[in-house]
Amino acid sequence: MRLRIAEFLDSEIVPHYRDWESEGRIPREAWTKAGRAGLLCRTAPKAYGGQDAGFLDSVVIAEELGKRRLSGFLTFLQSDIVVPYFLRLANEQQKKAYLPGLCSGLKIGAIAMTEPQSGSEVGRMRTTISQTDAGFVINGQKAHISNGFTADVVLVAGQSLSTGQGQEPELSLLIVDTNTPGITRTPTPKSGMRALDTCELSFEDCRVPTTSLLGTSGKGLFYLFTFLGLERLMLAIYAQASAVAILGELIAFCNNRKTSGGSLLDYQFILTKLADLYSECTVNQAFIDACIAEQARGRHDPRSASLAKLRSTETLKAISLLGVQFRGAQGISGGSGERAAKDLVDSCVQSIWGGASEVLRDAIGKSLVNSI
Ligand SMILES: Cc1cc2nc3c(=O)[nH]c(=O)nc-3n(C[C@H](O)[C@H](O)[C@H](O)COP(=O)(O)OP(=O)(O)OC[C@H]3O[C@@H](n4cnc5c(N)ncnc54)[C@H](O)[C@@H]3O)c2cc1C
Repeated sequence: MRLRIAEFLDSEIVPHYRDWESEGRIPREAWTKAGRAGLLCRTAPKAYGGQDAGFLDSVVIAEELGKRRLSGFLTFLQSDIVVPYFLRLANEQQKKAYLPGLCSGLKIGAIAMTEPQSGSEVGRMRTTISQTDAGFVINGQKAHISNGFTADVVLVAGQSLSTGQGQEPELSLLIVDTNTPGITRTPTPKSGMRALDTCELSFEDCRVPTTSLLGTSGKGLFYLFTFLGLERLMLAIYAQASAVAILGELIAFCNNRKTSGGSLLDYQFILTKLADLYSECTVNQAFIDACIAEQARGRHDPRSASLAKLRSTETLKAISLLGVQFRGAQGISGGSGERAAKDLVDSCVQSIWGGASEVLRDAIGKSLVNSI
């Protein structure tokens, strides 16, 4: 299976990727091709268009994307971040309406939590969901939504308006078709992950039917935090595979770059830095593998997923920085420099989205008292 995924990415995605970076999005055709090649939603049941596959298939796909740093074509955003909400929370009618399209790539899905004023503080979102006799009315703004401009369907989180003064806001989740009147989508220009379609979504008296409610009204925050664990593990797997690949390329560069004293690898400072990062990568891999094994057994520990994301993305960032520094001028110019600079900016996104490193440290720190 790994070979098949690798062949698909190398023949259908990699050759076009530069053009897609200029365009700022991945064409729909790539999604449907990925669907036909079996890259999407493999863990979904066959009855809804999936493959009934185990979690390890998701891991292999994320690793192959990570090795190639295809940060604009993160199919796991659909397969392992958006679709699990449908699998676990949707009713039969909602599953039948959305899952076959999401599994085949005919539909593209997104999840909208972040707002211009509340990213890390998910619970403080201001988008409102008011209930009427005919359904729900959404008002508010979402920011930095991956695949949002292309998406056919977005899971929108907002405050259910019943929330009283001084109470924790009650959030709900709605399944929203993006052709619903009242939605405006504006692409967000970015300096990193350029092929990833990222957009702002504005909702102005956007009316959706009662059947759009996903799960139980008011349980949105619980759902978001529950599913964030798997999201963080997927991001960790992707970051880890990227880190190993970037480190391998950097070691090869250092070996080939000749100086009067031999190669860059003959400088002790460089060698020890590379050895440190190699050991970090190796230890991270062992920890991530343990998280993967637990997830594959259906046991999921959100705290371990946060640790895995924190460690793997911080190591990725450290390796990417040296990927520029140890190349000298070639770290910012020419083909090798362009690659290294992209890796560096992209690595910064990895330690921000899905829970910034500082937020993860804060949460892990606060949990320490109960864990020792
Ligand atoms: C390319 C990209 C794609 C994205 N895709 C999506 C998507 O599909 N759906 C979605 O909902 N969101 C998405 N996001 C948003 C992402 O999840 C948020 O950017 C992230 O949660 C951080 O929120 P923020 O940007 O508002 O930063 P802020 O919350 O303003 O935080 C800024 C910085 O302050 C520090 N900080 C914040 N809180 C704390 C704390 N408690 N303790 C210590 N330090 C803290 C951290 O250093 C943090 O990086 C995406 C973001 C990017 C960049």
